[in-house]
Amino acid sequence: MVTKKVVVIGGGFGGLNVTTSLKQTSVDVFLIDKKNHHLFQPLLYEVATAAISPGDIATPLREILRNQSNAAVIMGEVIHIDKCAKKITLGDGENIDYDTLVIAIGARHSYFGKEAWEPFAPGLKTVNDAEQIRERILLSFERAERLKTFAGKDASLNFVIVGGGPTGVEMAGAIAEIAYKTMTKNFRYIDPSKAHIYLIEALPSILPMFPPRLARIATKTLEKMGVKVLTGKTVTDIHANGIHIEDVFIESENVIWAAGNQVSSLLKSLDTPLDRSGRAIVESDLSLPGHQEIFVIGDAARVDTKKGKTLPGVAPVAMQQGRYVANLIINDFSKENRPPFCYFDKGSLATIGKFKAIALFWKFQFSGFFAWLIWALVHVMFLIGFRNRVGVMLDWGAVIFTGRRGVRLITQPIDKEEKETQNSGF
Ligand SMILES: Cc1cc2nc3c(=O)[nH]c(=O)nc-3n(C[C@H](O)[C@H](O)[C@H](O)COP(=O)(O)OP(=O)(O)OC[C@H]3O[C@@H](n4cnc5c(N)ncnc54)[C@H](O)[C@@H]3O)c2cc1C
Repeated sequence: MVTKKVVVIGGGFGGLNVTTSLKQTSVDVFLIDKKNHHLFQPLLYEVATAAISPGDIATPLREILRNQSNAAVIMGEVIHIDKCAKKITLGDGENIDYDTLVIAIGARHSYFGKEAWEPFAPGLKTVNDAEQIRERILLSFERAERLKTFAGKDASLNFVIVGGGPTGVEMAGAIAEIAYKTMTKNFRYIDPSKAHIYLIEALPSILPMFPPRLARIATKTLEKMGVKVLTGKTVTDIHANGIHIEDVFIESENVIWAAGNQVSSLLKSLDTPLDRSGRAIVESDLSLPGHQEIFVIGDAARVDTKKGKTLPGVAPVAMQQGRYVANLIINDFSKENRPPFCYFDKGSLATIGKFKAIALFWKFQFSGFFAWLIWALVHVMFLIGFRNRVGVMLDWGAVIFTGRRGVRLITQPIDKEEKETQNSGF
């Protein structure tokens, strides 16, 4: 019997779940990723705000799959998919053929056609992004201290987060904790608590995926922490010196983009219907129309429920879809016998800061410490590896009990950064 070859593109939540669910089966799995690690994106903001180390949330794919003999990890970027010839092409021109293809490439942030804003308002998606944002935040305080010490001038310590979804809320809350708690006593000439933190949302409310009551609690909590929440406001321009929000200009070298998602243009090579965010519109079994051997899952797939709701781009959706597709592969269902994918929504959580979160489980709404505790337990539980769980818990312990954020590392010299900044027009 010829062994079936399953190629999985992407070692995120979706791709990894397909791969591990195919353990101890007779198929050969090739997991291809442009990075060598699986990244636990939900805690990325903690890296960006110096609470935890990147190594605590990024685990080498080879390490995760070390005991799965039917799975091989290939590091490379897929740049083309030929669905008629059933092969994919890597960046260096290498071709790999497949019997079944699972595309789980996730999404990146979208600037809604304003790509020129990206250098001035980085988004948060990779370890690199998180480290870059962390350095920018910390460097602002360092520059402000220097300016005050030698020139006697006050720098404008403004931090602007665009997008009031869970990531924007988490970032705003964490920066407030850095400025108003962690950094106090660290500087002699500036007062970090004079920093201004703005959270901008174009919709009338932040966290629109939560019931209005919970969104209001989150807004009030952020405001109590010192964050200025501006809703119903549209960003009109971002450049090196700051951000224009309609007719208001906020001077800032720390604008963080947490709005919108866009799937990579790789899906365009499939010549299949895509939605406005570039997600592949898949059938009820998550396969591509006319190609039952190609599945698209996770953030890269657009799935509408029978009630007309589009499934959100969250980790549980990608994980359940990964396990579902593995089950179809194991049972080798013909197209007409495949049960449709059904998402089991266990609830939603968003954290705002230390001991502050909101949670929605079916019709039950929680906020405050209890919601935060569930958030913390769920995140630790889903982290990969014992070492990472212990590492994150120790780092959190330090933040909670001492208020210190221990990973406040700046790896590039401030003068080098300033030169580059001047060259790029800052
Ligand atoms: C900052 C942040 C916070 C979040 N917080 C939460 C949260 O609290 N709760 C929650 O449920 N969800 C959260 N999410 C969303 C969640 O992380 C995503 O829904 C989930 O990661 C989607 O899984 P995926 O497998 O589709 O894609 P990903 O996990 O993004 O994985 C995609 C993988 O594909 C690889 N890849 C991409 N293109 C190629 C290519 N061409 N060739 C080879 N490899 C490629 C990438 O390197 C990556 O490893 C958050 C996301 C972010 C960015």
